[in-house]
Amino acid sequence: MIIVTNSGITKEQWNNIWEKLESWGFQLHVIQGVEKKVIGAVGDKRKVDFHFLENIPGVEKVIPILSPYKLAAKDVKPEGTIIEIGNLKIGGGHFGLIAGPCAVESEEQLIQIARGLKDAGANGLRGGAFKPRTSPYSFQGLEKEGLLLLAKAREETGLPVITELMNLTELDLLVEYADIIQIGARNMQNFGLLKAVGRQPKPVLLKRGLAATIEEWIMAAEYIIAEGNEKVILCERGIRTFETATRNTLDLSAIPLVKSLTHLPVVVDPSHGTGKRKLVIPMAKAAIVAGADGLLIEAHPDPANAWSDGEQSLDLAEFKILVEQIQPLLELENKRL
Ligand code: PEP
Ligand code: MN
Repeated sequence: MIIVTNSGITKEQWNNIWEKLESWGFQLHVIQGVEKKVIGAVGDKRKVDFHFLENIPGVEKVIPILSPYKLAAKDVKPEGTIIEIGNLKIGGGHFGLIAGPCAVESEEQLIQIARGLKDAGANGLRGGAFKPRTSPYSFQGLEKEGLLLLAKAREETGLPVITELMNLTELDLLVEYADIIQIGARNMQNFGLLKAVGRQPKPVLLKRGLAATIEEWIMAAEYIIAEGNEKVILCERGIRTFETATRNTLDLSAIPLVKSLTHLPVVVDPSHGTGKRKLVIPMAKAAIVAGADGLLIEAHPDPANAWSDGEQSLDLAEFKILVEQIQPLLELENKRL
């Protein structure tokens, strides 16, 4: 349940509420809203006298949460969560335009594309250093060298860097080098990994699993928040359906639905969502109108020679067209880059 406190609550009143809830065996989480502090209390509600609780000084209202996820639920923070990393803000009217190559391949490739993307209007740089590939014989990423190159690109451009974590053993390295940690579709239900990123301070971009329902996806976010990290961004990246004409089926209806169920920002990846370069711009536009808080776009200086996912990557000229075409839609939706 959610305990919304009065805006003028005193320290004594707060402590009194806290102690009471703790004595009932609840696990407590503080959620800082714009004006009010909210307590998310997870545990067995049967012991609680709601009337008594609502009348404790300092309590404005008590909201029971019926969904299986508690801390990710919209009621916890109806105004929505804003993720902030330097100049990059995602959520609450701030739009994240994050782009970069599927895999970091070389210094020349990364710096070239990072500079171009920044000049074109991107506010975040994404590149894979550890790559989850379907075949063990495909390029697996430059690993630590890739992280060093991402850090260099951040230094050159000022863009915050987002990259994927695949193994617990690499967590410390990623916490050191990345500004946002990506959990890929294949690891959406790797609960050990989710708990571990919940215990570190960097924001987490959580991709929807290949065959995950919306509830499973939000429950995965709940794992991260329950460990203490509420800086979670959800990423719709298409789901597996019977359709083979596209790589995945981009579920645009998930955007407004998830935004009505949770307070977390939702970004959309039309590159993996379609697998086809010519579909990326139309789906990016559709995502904005559906309410997305950001985009994740694969871009490469020379997609025809990319080491991975070239067929769905935009070149710089195409990325510029995307930026030009989304501007009026961002205005329409009252979002700013
Ligand atoms: C990626 O972002 O490069 C990636 C592998 O995506 P996903 O986890 O969505 O397949
Ligand atoms: Mn990719």
